[in-house]
Amino acid sequence: MSDCIFCKIVAKEILGETVYEDDQVLAIKDINPQAPVHLLLITKKHITSLNEVSSEDEGLMGHILMLAQKLAQKFGVAESGYRVVTNIGKEGGQAVPHLHFHVLGGKALGVHID
Ligand code: 5GP
Ligand code: ZN
Repeated sequence: MSDCIFCKIVAKEILGETVYEDDQVLAIKDINPQAPVHLLLITKKHITSLNEVSSEDEGLMGHILMLAQKLAQKFGVAESGYRVVTNIGKEGGQAVPHLHFHVLGGKALGVHID
């Protein structure tokens, strides 16, 4: 989508700090990190949120979770622990309407929801 900030990052029209890339996913550092490790795993295909994922995206969803595991290892938080989150819609706190998974770690994360 032409006006989507994450599509622009995927298209390299806006620079993101890339930590991993393949044909399906771009992983970047979050611009406003909430933890020492805060990565965003962004689907190259524009999907608005988990709500819009369909059965044809099953492989992509498995791929992105396996990548979360690999990047947690690479960034040194696999043993200490980390969190994988995707926010959905308004009350889910989704600010960017393009599917992405946060990988957060490097400190003890709070358990609060709001
Ligand atoms: P959401 O609230 O949609 O789940 O998360 C959006 C995330 O994207 C936020 O953590 C925010 O800091 C991050 N973000 C927004 N714009 C940019 C950007 O231009 N570059 C990077 N690297 N991160 C961004
Ligand atoms: Zn997009």
